[in-house]
Amino acid sequence: MKIAILPGDGIGTEIMAEAVKVLNVLDLTFETETALVGGAAYEAHGHPLPESTLNLAKSADAILFGAVGDWKYDKLERQYRPEQAILGLRKHLGLFANFRPAICYEQLTHASSLKPELVAGLDILIIRELTGDIYFGQPRGRRTAVDGHFPGAEEAFDTMRYSRPEIERIAHVAFQAARKRNKKVTSVDKANVLETFQFWKDVVIEVHAQYPDVALDHMYVDNAAMQLVKAPKAFDVVVTGNMFGDILSDEAAMLTGSIGMLPSASLDKSNKGLYEPSHGSAPDIAGKGIANPLATILSAAMMLRFSLNQPQAADRIESAVKAVLSAGLRTGDIWSEGTQRVGTREMGDAVVAAITGKTITTKS
Ligand code: NAD
Repeated sequence: MKIAILPGDGIGTEIMAEAVKVLNVLDLTFETETALVGGAAYEAHGHPLPESTLNLAKSADAILFGAVGDWKYDKLERQYRPEQAILGLRKHLGLFANFRPAICYEQLTHASSLKPELVAGLDILIIRELTGDIYFGQPRGRRTAVDGHFPGAEEAFDTMRYSRPEIERIAHVAFQAARKRNKKVTSVDKANVLETFQFWKDVVIEVHAQYPDVALDHMYVDNAAMQLVKAPKAFDVVVTGNMFGDILSDEAAMLTGSIGMLPSASLDKSNKGLYEPSHGSAPDIAGKGIANPLATILSAAMMLRFSLNQPQAADRIESAVKAVLSAGLRTGDIWSEGTQRVGTREMGDAVVAAITGKTITTKS
């Protein structure tokens, strides 16, 4: 097994160090190779996704990714911005299915912005299509308007589009995932306004005919945003397009207490994947040693389960995370009265201790 380790920028390097530490105590045989990506790669090689990094990602069995970005790159031409590295990896590796589980650990119900009874036991899975939609659609750009409300004015435009095979394959992924869970899929669209999403809905209904054991319902994205905070436990699997999924999965993140708890997996058609926390590089806390490494550690567990066929090792990581939370350890983002505040490294050490059977030390 070869794992490409791409720490990236900001807190990316801090949280990745903890995930690698955890992987190294699992008694597994694997090779890792680390490469620069994002702003760090731009500084060293003049490009956020240098060819050497892309080649490593292509040759590896799985990729563990930290986070990229910093406000200091905001003025760069778009192609050189750190975030382009993620889009490039998704595109070149065909990573079309993004799994974002939103699980509220029982120990963290009080860290959620919602009432504990609304999120206790929450376990939903958002499946976001990742390589299509308005994020990749062409043409896009800036021009002088020839029509619309202000002909002659400067305008910008993007193109929202989905082809039948793109919708079919993500719908299959969602129905198959639901079969292993509570057998319910909610397809989120905007079919009342957008042609692209009427087509999305029609194709999802067609694919559903092959999964009579799975229930399907449809929801407009505005209603889905509302239902996610009103009754999140009513969902099981949510499948949606790239842009709606981007927004809804961050909303779901807050239900779980913190974006610092949310892992994600982006898979290709043969389950090769890129695994990363759902959050960004958090420049506001970078270098302070206070970032929550659990989303990255849990992403490593997803990697072991989905791409490297090591479900027991994945279980060990997930049980260790629960044990650490039960012991009362919390990074600042999930801290609450009566729990012990720890830094990034201490949190990683505690997960390692839980895996290796050592006592998890707390000051209190
Ligand atoms: P962000 O996710 O980096 O941070 C949002 C807030 O959450 C911040 O207050 C941050 O401190 C906090 N936070 C995030 N991760 C945390 C963690 N592990 N522990 C504790 N707190 C955490 O989003 P942003 O501030 O909008 O973006 C910052 C940069 O990250 C931008 O350059 C953006 O483009 C980039 N970004 C990258 C990715 C990625 O690499 N996949 C995703 C989103 C944003």
